[in-house]
Amino acid sequence: MKVADLHVHSHFSDGTLAPSAIVAEAIRKGLSCISLTDHDTIDALDPAIEAAGKDLEILPGIELTAEFQGQEIHILGYLIDYRNDAFLKMLAMMQEVRVKRISGICEKLKKLKCLIEPEDVFKFAVYGSVGRLHVARALLQKGYVGSTSEAFVRFIGEKGAAYVGKFKMTPQEAINWILKVKGIPVLAHPHLLGDKTLISDLVKAGIMGLEAFYPEHSEYQTQEFIKIAQKYDLLVTGGSDCHGYAKEEIKLGLIKLPYEYVEKLKEAQCRLK
Ligand code: AMP
Ligand code: ZN
Ligand code: FE
Ligand code: FE
Repeated sequence: MKVADLHVHSHFSDGTLAPSAIVAEAIRKGLSCISLTDHDTIDALDPAIEAAGKDLEILPGIELTAEFQGQEIHILGYLIDYRNDAFLKMLAMMQEVRVKRISGICEKLKKLKCLIEPEDVFKFAVYGSVGRLHVARALLQKGYVGSTSEAFVRFIGEKGAAYVGKFKMTPQEAINWILKVKGIPVLAHPHLLGDKTLISDLVKAGIMGLEAFYPEHSEYQTQEFIKIAQKYDLLVTGGSDCHGYAKEEIKLGLIKLPYEYVEKLKEAQCRLK
């Protein structure tokens, strides 16, 4: 049976692996298809497609951040036309915002007696799309925390004292960007959305799928999201949200999504055109 993992980060955002290493690992784990879904960057897509050749299917993807009812949500875009000029310009703007934000986070950390310079963070983001996971790794390296999760809980998570938001689109804007480049907008890790009834608002905004299969979802949660997807006639996707070694284990392949879900994604995309 063909299986897919549709949520993977490379070292072009906050994963640690190069696209070629991800491809090799995906093949080793018996996957037939993966989607590279880096935060605000498409730079991994061409190298991954090249490394994969005919041995692995790569679905072009992206993960955008939006702000919804005061909380951060992530919207995945699948099968995007990642060469669209306006889209690339928007991503370039996001990259600038990400870089500036690191100084703000470092300032706040200094006040909390964690002496981290932006350069210490950029060392972990040599290929681009710098983010909070890179800050977490710098904090870990300097011994201020014992794990990257601790960094989020104590400092840089949404409730942390050194949290700095970045430019966030509304869900509608993120969804529109994905639709503009002929992609399928999907709500990532829906368990993080505290109130499930909010999904109906996202459906109104144009969300087309739910990431029901996710490592942190219990069997019960997965079934619940599948039911919600059926209720609103949404697609179902799944992925490991692998960040390489950045989160202490290689999650790639933890989700083995039956390929029929990928086919449904593709059919939905054909209907968009
Ligand atoms: P950013 O896009 O810079 O705001 O960073 C968001 C990323 O940080 C997420 O995609 C995760 O990779 C990571 N992240 C967010 N919250 C946590 C957490 N509590 N523990 C570990 N990683 C997290
Ligand atoms: Zn990430
Ligand atoms: Fe995410
Ligand atoms: Fe992710």
